[in-house]
Amino acid sequence: MIAADWLLLDSAAPSAEEPLTKFLAGTADGELVLPFCGSGHPLDLDQLECEREGCPGGPRQWREVSRTGTVIASIVMHRLEKSFIAATAPYPVLEVELDSGHRLYVSTDRHTRSVVFPAGEIVDIAFVRVGETSIPRIALTEKRSGK
Ligand SMILES: [Zn+2]
Repeated sequence: MIAADWLLLDSAAPSAEEPLTKFLAGTADGELVLPFCGSGHPLDLDQLECEREGCPGGPRQWREVSRTGTVIASIVMHRLEKSFIAATAPYPVLEVELDSGHRLYVSTDRHTRSVVFPAGEIVDIAFVRVGETSIPRIALTEKRSGK
């Protein structure tokens, strides 16, 4: 059972349309399914062509990837947007590079007072429910959840 999100209101749920169809089908099953070029390089969700120099490209492929990654950058977001944010206190937003090379922008799976994440920290991805969709978040450790 995936917990309802603490941060976003259901009105912020992504629509299950291209380019998110395969991604959201994966998250519904608790998997991260992301695109690669025909030569195995990671692509962004909406990226159709590989931009690596010299890559012959080839048909885009979607594969399940590891849910472990490294924090590349993090910020503390101070934003009260009552139409789609449920949180009333600052929250972390992190750029995470997955072991597959894909980058995600995510927050945490639970409220945390420990909002600073140093670059280089190893994190695991969990999922929260927003509306009818499941979206990825950093899985907080007990130490970070402040309990
Ligand atoms: Zn490529």
